[in-house]
Amino acid sequence: MRRKLVVANWKMHGDLAQNKVLFDAFRQRLDHLTSADIAVCVPYPYLFQAQQELQGSHIAWGAQNVAKHEVGAYTGEVSARMLKDFGASYVIVGHSERSTAYCESDENIAAKFVVARKSGITPVLCLGETLAERESGLCHQVIASQIDAVLKTVGAGVFAHAVVSYEPVWAIGTGLSATPGQAQQVHAFIRDRIAALDVHAAETVRILYGGSVNPLNASQLFVMPDIDGGLIGRCSLNANDFEEICRAA
Ligand code: 13P
Repeated sequence: MRRKLVVANWKMHGDLAQNKVLFDAFRQRLDHLTSADIAVCVPYPYLFQAQQELQGSHIAWGAQNVAKHEVGAYTGEVSARMLKDFGASYVIVGHSERSTAYCESDENIAAKFVVARKSGITPVLCLGETLAERESGLCHQVIASQIDAVLKTVGAGVFAHAVVSYEPVWAIGTGLSATPGQAQQVHAFIRDRIAALDVHAAETVRILYGGSVNPLNASQLFVMPDIDGGLIGRCSLNANDFEEICRAA
């Protein structure tokens, strides 16, 4: 039985004062909610604050990106070891807001996955098709090529210690979530793809759904057999909404 996981992705929102209010609210409302794992992925400058505010609680924290190199002359990059220094447990890799805007290739994403694992940080690997790809019937093909790029680099076994997030690009920030049936179908496809190489990893890996999850649709999504929780954008910036989503997990 996989434990549910709900991850907040704050994206490029917040400041010290606003974060403090949210961290306090999360601790108050979510710390006793032990039926699911909960994590908050913050912008890099606030990792120290997340560590200060969340350590000792059962809410984990992490980052939204990581350098693909371990160390070196890479101006502006942040290594997995640096994230580890601030207690990060999770790092999002391959979010479509990055792969589109910053031309992140599947190979780069695979390299980031590797450095995260090496540092003992759980990568949250994002996969998802665009609306045009879905409408052209290419959804499974796109997802297969995204996951295969990582599988061929890292092997299937490490997925037992990783998280995958299916995030259809057309559902992110649009208010238009995938239906539970649509999401379940892709989640099962991802799990089968891993199972073809490693059954144990496929049964263990947690596959989250992300894209306009809100308090009204969360429980219908999370009840599906291959949906193991959510990656939450907008609604993770509101303590009420995020609490309700965590309760649905
Ligand atoms: P929204 O929940 O705002 O649609 O964002 C989803 C997302 O991108 C999480 O990573």
